[in-house]
Amino acid sequence: MTDERRAPTRRHSLMGKDLDGNTIVLSFTISHSLYTCPGCRGQIEVGREHTLVRYVEPDGEAWHQHWHRDCARTLEREMKNIQTRPASELQGRRGPKPRRRR
Ligand SMILES: [Zn+2]
Repeated sequence: MTDERRAPTRRHSLMGKDLDGNTIVLSFTISHSLYTCPGCRGQIEVGREHTLVRYVEPDGEAWHQHWHRDCARTLEREMKNIQTRPASELQGRRGPKPRRRR
């Protein structure tokens, strides 16, 4: 059985590796400003549900892009070792994690 319809939802993010060995995290999000989708160069309007794509390079450098949900499926097809994670684990935290103080 294949699971081709996997896509990020409000509850789950997808995490995997791309062909260059970068870690990719796809999360469900809603736009708060106008974005240009790198997949189709089209606009993502404010308030639209779309996919936040975060890349983490092997050396720890990270950046993100905003993609249409349909366009991000192209990325999903190229990702390896895809895992589903609870969205709360991978997004939604503002600022650094609290650290235990001595
Ligand atoms: Zn697009």
